[in-house]
Amino acid sequence: MQPKVPLDFLGDLRRTHTCGELRVCHSGQRVTLFGWVHRRRDLGGVIFIDLRDRDGITQVVFRADVDPAAHEKAQLLRPEYVVAVEGLLAQRAPETVNPNLPTGEVEVIADKLWILNDSRTPPFPMEDRVQVNEEVRLKYRYVDLRRPRMMRNITLRSRISFAIREHLYKQGFLEIETPFLTRSTPEGARDFLVPSRIQPGYFYALPQSPQLFKQLLMVAGYERYFQIVRCFRDEDLRADRQPEFTQLDLEMSFVRPEDIFDVIEPVMERVCEVAGFKISRPFPRMTYDEALHTYGTDKPDLRLPPFREVTDLFTETGLVRDGLPLVAIRTPKTGPVSRKERAELAEFGRQRGLKVYDDINALAKKYPALIEQVRERVGATQDDLLLLATWEGDPPPRRPEETVLLACGQLHLHAAQKYKDRHGLLDPNRLVLLWVVDFPMFEWSEEENRWVAAHHPFTSVREEDLDKLLTDPASCRAKSYDLVLNGVEIGSGSIRIHRRDVQAKVFEALGFSEEEARQRFGFLLEALEYGAPPHGGIALGLDRLVMILAGENSIREVIPFPKTAKGTDLMCDAPAPVPEHQLRELGIALRQPVPTHPASG
Ligand code: ASP
Repeated sequence: MQPKVPLDFLGDLRRTHTCGELRVCHSGQRVTLFGWVHRRRDLGGVIFIDLRDRDGITQVVFRADVDPAAHEKAQLLRPEYVVAVEGLLAQRAPETVNPNLPTGEVEVIADKLWILNDSRTPPFPMEDRVQVNEEVRLKYRYVDLRRPRMMRNITLRSRISFAIREHLYKQGFLEIETPFLTRSTPEGARDFLVPSRIQPGYFYALPQSPQLFKQLLMVAGYERYFQIVRCFRDEDLRADRQPEFTQLDLEMSFVRPEDIFDVIEPVMERVCEVAGFKISRPFPRMTYDEALHTYGTDKPDLRLPPFREVTDLFTETGLVRDGLPLVAIRTPKTGPVSRKERAELAEFGRQRGLKVYDDINALAKKYPALIEQVRERVGATQDDLLLLATWEGDPPPRRPEETVLLACGQLHLHAAQKYKDRHGLLDPNRLVLLWVVDFPMFEWSEEENRWVAAHHPFTSVREEDLDKLLTDPASCRAKSYDLVLNGVEIGSGSIRIHRRDVQAKVFEALGFSEEEARQRFGFLLEALEYGAPPHGGIALGLDRLVMILAGENSIREVIPFPKTAKGTDLMCDAPAPVPEHQLRELGIALRQPVPTHPASG
């Protein structure tokens, strides 16, 4: 396609300043700026251009009386044309100052203009306040990324990565790369496979995490490793997950969980500072059991008050059945709550198996003394909403207590979110972090009908539970920990198994035969026989962390080129079918004809 206007060459042109840095103190200087035409206003004898680059916007003025040739050429400019301008920096007259721009007190009186490239009319304006359908944004991501909000997010992300690196280098960590073409590492998802052309029928797996490699680096004596690394997990569609995502991955030798916390807390402090937040340290710690019994979740949002079990108070009444927990949930400062709203809360609970007593005043008539004690226990005032909840039908078949508490946790959060504007506790500008520790070692998988690792199979069990690995797996606790920020899990890690005998026992508890364990993890078992030191580590999800710090609600807003919830890259149309000859080279035959591409079908 021919350019719409004659184009100039960049030649030897050099920029003297960016579009964000010019101030009154620069006035009188000749300046050369590069950038994109953000906006153009043609007032006849005068043309105003808002010139934009990564750094900001500067007003450029072409006046027919100053330079008729440049003024005439400026008439050709349209949004998103790429230009260079040269001229004199002038202070604006007081009445034309733009207080909304950092450069609003000055303007460039241009006498030279180079048009370096034209642009089609962009699919949407560069303004943040213009709402654009996400599919269109993702298809034209290179245009979307020019918008100020995305520039801010991507810049913040880069600054956060730099702060992490800077801090960890100073603490003696080495940044070491681990392979992408590798064998499967179980982190609870499916692997992306890459066929080998040279060895037909053989496949690499893309790493779900660098877990085994970082452990092997500890065996190799590197002591302090980190990496800001891409991980790949082929999970089913879940809101706001990406098939590839980024972790800060870290591992250390000769450590207890506290040593990991001591490294991560200052990293978090620094990262939050970069984003303009102040957090308090040390982060509180809570065991998994405590979190379950006070927030009904493994990722409590400490900006909210805990709920309280009141089962003991009501044992003599019909409210407690089968010994299952009765929970008092307080939502602060809701003020009066209508009957209809209470019914909605009760229905939310019912859908999760709960019986919700939403009319506390009615209950107080029946059990005045008990409800008074409940109020005292949760610290409820007349201004707060108070709900009691327990299980509705037959007791849940597995882990009944936990099931009830988890459902109560959901109701607790739902009520808090429903009235968040009234109590103001879920303020996104307040960041509260905590460590959740001592998770169960195993979880029962209904699907697989066996115990699976709650964290991953390389996690250490607490010493006192070593003997129970095979006899009582349900009661074993792991040396694992999660980092939680405002109710979102942003990291998890553990002390690892460094002894071959213990690792073999854990594989056995997980139902791997010796042969299976040897086949899948033989190299790890062998490495553990060559002087493996005690070690442990953690991984933090960088996308989610940046999302929260940028005040966004989706990780797609902080990933430059994300995929849709269906795992599609709308810009380059990936995944895509490949030509037959490529398949043949790989020794691959498809079982079914290639369906129409989901993005185009
Ligand atoms: N490999 C783990 C994960 O990706 C983190 C860790 O245990 O360090 O979740």
